[in-house]
Amino acid sequence: MLSNPDLARKLQLCSDLPSPAGIAMRIIELCQDAEATLNEVAAVVGQDPAISAKLMRMANSPFYARKRKTENIRQAIALFGLNGTLVLALGFSVVGESRRDGGGIDHNQFWRRALACAICAQLLGARLEPARKEELFLAALLQDIGILAIEKVIPGFYAELPPSHIGHEQIATEERERLACDHAEVGAWLLQNWNMPEDLVVAVAHSHRGDPGNRFNQIVAVASLLGDLWWHEEDPQRRLRMAADAAHTDLDVRLEELTEIIEEAAVQLQATASTFDLDVAGHVSPELLLEKARELMSLITVTTLQETSALKEKAEALTTYNQRLREQNRRDNLTGLYNRAYFDQVLAAEYQLARENNFPLSVVFIDLDHFKQINDLYGHEVGDKALVHCARIIQENTRHSDVVARYGGEEFVAILPGTDTGSAQSVCERMLEALRRSPLVLDDGRALIITASIGIAVLDELEQVRDAYDLLRQADRALYKAKDSGRDQLKIYCA
Ligand code: GH3
Ligand code: MG
Ligand code: MG
Repeated sequence: MLSNPDLARKLQLCSDLPSPAGIAMRIIELCQDAEATLNEVAAVVGQDPAISAKLMRMANSPFYARKRKTENIRQAIALFGLNGTLVLALGFSVVGESRRDGGGIDHNQFWRRALACAICAQLLGARLEPARKEELFLAALLQDIGILAIEKVIPGFYAELPPSHIGHEQIATEERERLACDHAEVGAWLLQNWNMPEDLVVAVAHSHRGDPGNRFNQIVAVASLLGDLWWHEEDPQRRLRMAADAAHTDLDVRLEELTEIIEEAAVQLQATASTFDLDVAGHVSPELLLEKARELMSLITVTTLQETSALKEKAEALTTYNQRLREQNRRDNLTGLYNRAYFDQVLAAEYQLARENNFPLSVVFIDLDHFKQINDLYGHEVGDKALVHCARIIQENTRHSDVVARYGGEEFVAILPGTDTGSAQSVCERMLEALRRSPLVLDDGRALIITASIGIAVLDELEQVRDAYDLLRQADRALYKAKDSGRDQLKIYCA
């Protein structure tokens, strides 16, 4: 029940509140149905071509695409999970419907902020609550829907706010002063009226004040602060400070990780906006946003240090130092690639993820051919240069989400998450070709062509793999076949 009964009555009488369109009501029912099957979900979602198309685009957006290219709605559902699919479909339908008329609100700006919040919540979710990242997406997307409802029953409410009241939290304060409740409360009320899942309603209700002890709700609240970075341009340092403080205190997410999230969000916002029919063109370019995020982060560190006591200052410096040390500990000194210890960790984690979600996973072993001869003929220093040279080419021919490491000596390994046999093979063929075409040019002008042999092992439905180590061993076996067959080639492991 709303704390302002008068507003509640107006809302109840208002016939054109924002609402989910078309099939959405059926989707909401299915969300509550623990027995819903993939077929039912596919059938309902498939009834709306616009929503199906959006789900496909979402599945192939940067957030998911690195896992696997999605070609049909079934695959998309498998990717999001049943609940995730319903929840995303719901998001599309609400956004689509409530953008129809403007009123006193810039709908493009409103939904851009909402989408930024949603993406930030999803990115935080991927790290903290991976099984609920789509729900987080929806909760964050709809957390400010109360604004649209208030504008419907009190037309011009937002247009009348003083121009200084452009920040999200100032808007909420003003609402509380004038209406004795804010849009978080109204939004929760509205979602409850739509029969939305209870978790979602509660998360929206808590979106302004947070909810200690409930990580889901805390993520939504922190995402709201992050979304503010895309809301308006004013006083970005302060807003970022608030978001960073909340992320740290409430979610134990450190600044370094938060920067990554903001950077990823900027890229994804650009990629996802068109899926929601939003216009981000003419707004801030992703490059600019990235730059801004980095700039802000450096500012934040400066101001934080300036404001804190000497003791805290030392602690901060120590943290940064430790972070740098940790990153160094992950890297191989000569090539700058990840080292074996870190690779082993990532392999274990990716293996588990692939097993749990039925994603393919490829592991690649790369060994440079006749490398001993290079040392013998040209000396160790040239050998080292050759290693750096090849490491760079190997790295350049993988994707951002792949993990490439120096396993030891002249051996390299790569983990290609979400990559099946065919794709792993083309990645490796490209790598071999790049090595052949890019000789190391010595100081005296001579060009040294260094080739490699590659073994690939793939975890997919058909392969018998016991554990992560087993997969690596299979790649190593395949590598030896490649060596035996004359080098400068790849082999795929088969039992
Ligand atoms: P194959 O085609 O069978 O792999 O022959 P290979 O000569 O590459 O293999 P082998 O394992 O016999 O030799 C690897 C050589 O790599 C031996 C070692 O001198 C060289 N090597 C390993 N680590 C380094 C390094 O850090 N720097 C330099 N310069 N050479 C290295
Ligand atoms: Mg070797
Ligand atoms: Mg070798």
